[in-house]
Amino acid sequence: MIDLHTHSNYSDGTDSPAQLINKALAAGVTTIALTDHDSVAGITEATNALRNGISLVPGAEISCQTEDGISVHMLGLLFDLENSELIQTMAKTRENRHGRMQRIIERINEAGIDISMSDVLAELSDGETLGRPHLADALIKKGVVSSRDEAFTEMLHNKSKFYVAHYSPKPAEAIALIKAAGGVAVIAHPMASHRGRTISYETFGDLISAGLDGIEVDHRDHSPDEKTALIKLAKDNNLVMTGASDYHGNGKLNLLAEYTTSNDQWDALRSRANADRVIKL
Ligand code: AMP
Ligand code: ZN
Ligand code: FE
Ligand code: FE
Repeated sequence: MIDLHTHSNYSDGTDSPAQLINKALAAGVTTIALTDHDSVAGITEATNALRNGISLVPGAEISCQTEDGISVHMLGLLFDLENSELIQTMAKTRENRHGRMQRIIERINEAGIDISMSDVLAELSDGETLGRPHLADALIKKGVVSSRDEAFTEMLHNKSKFYVAHYSPKPAEAIALIKAAGGVAVIAHPMASHRGRTISYETFGDLISAGLDGIEVDHRDHSPDEKTALIKLAKDNNLVMTGASDYHGNGKLNLLAEYTTSNDQWDALRSRANADRVIKL
């Protein structure tokens, strides 16, 4: 089984990369992509945990924002991990996530809820990508909410009065960076409308012109109708269709390999990278 979208505790997942590899192997996954938010810091640890029977696709989920403020997540896979432009863009986003978190916390404090930056930073280690799930964890410790899911539903969702965006590249820029680094670009959960506004067909066209390689079709946040629309879009534009879990450990309900990518689609996708960067023992 091929699962091309997972998170470790180098971003907002709760398993270490080694735990992730072990669980994936036990679940029957033969190819797994580690795609932490705006970071490749977990790839080394995942590589060191590899065993016979499972191979690793290096990757990252790049946070993007359109001109009109819509959040887009772009999976970059199989790119050169040493590419400085891509590495620097991710570093800029990670750094900006800290100032953004301060501003979210100020808004929450104004509403009379006691939470501080140090409470949130206690939920992750140095070098890990900070995100709203870490704020959710701090709110759980304070007894304000009882789960990450409740934190997002009640307080932290994209339409909340507490929401603040952070610097992110435009999705077409992210595609250009990923392609320049020799990798492939797959747009993650593009129609997950309950997360907030989603991109228009016009924006989709721009991303295809920018070199988009694939669409994540099978994902738990897509309805059957949304999948049907995405399959048509992929077929009409000769794009690869992927499926993936977006596993976050116990930070979300998503189970490893609950959705997967077919061998055919994976072969088509990996052939679009400029080198074979799948890591195996
Ligand atoms: P951020 O990266 O700070 O904008 O936070 C977005 C992250 O929060 C996404 O990667 C999601 O995986 C996570 N997230 C969104 N909704 C939920 C939820 N209901 N429960 C747990 N995690 C969530
Ligand atoms: Zn996440
Ligand atoms: Fe995402
Ligand atoms: Fe994700």
